[in-house]
Amino acid sequence: MARHTDSVCKLCRNEGVKLFLKGSRCYTTKCAIERRRYGPGQHGQQRKKNSEYALQLREKQKVRRFYGLLEKQFSSYYQAASQQKKVPTGLKILQLCECRLDNVLHRGGLVPSRAQARQLISHGHFEINGTKVYTPSYQLKAGEVVSVSENSKKLVKALIEANPSPVVPQWINTDLDNLKTSILNAPQREDLDASVKEALIVEYYSRR
Ligand code: SF4
Repeated sequence: MARHTDSVCKLCRNEGVKLFLKGSRCYTTKCAIERRRYGPGQHGQQRKKNSEYALQLREKQKVRRFYGLLEKQFSSYYQAASQQKKVPTGLKILQLCECRLDNVLHRGGLVPSRAQARQLISHGHFEINGTKVYTPSYQLKAGEVVSVSENSKKLVKALIEANPSPVVPQWINTDLDNLKTSILNAPQREDLDASVKEALIVEYYSRR
């Protein structure tokens, strides 16, 4: 599957929820879903099917799009989650998404959106424990410290100034003054969005 190249706001309107894909614009009245609370296109205002499969598919697509992942990446998280026994499969899928480097940079308040974080990481603007990293999907572990490369500090400071009061979750430790972030532990279920129905995602993949 190719990367989505159309307006990302259509993804939110299609899922009927805000997926926060456009950084600070998502918190303003310019947000497309605030102005048009129906799906995009000619048939956007028609009622949608509520079959069991449709619900599972929509939940999977919603979460996958929220994190900006391709189907191959997201289904590989399901495979990895279903092969371990320590954590419930649904929660493990969410943990794998949350501990991605691009997500932690966004949640930690250093970068306004995951898409922007992905681009900056691949251009070498960040380091983990002092070593440059170029992989947005890198799984961050407790004890690893993400910092900004010396030449990129001005750029990242400008991004932080544009979004000065991020809501940083408890499981992430961010020092915006020194441009550093790290995770204390993988998030537990109570740390994550209660509206996500991860059981539907597990059901979706297990019936394939
Ligand atoms: Fe979604 Fe953000 Fe666009 Fe609103 S502005 S529709 S939250 S991507």
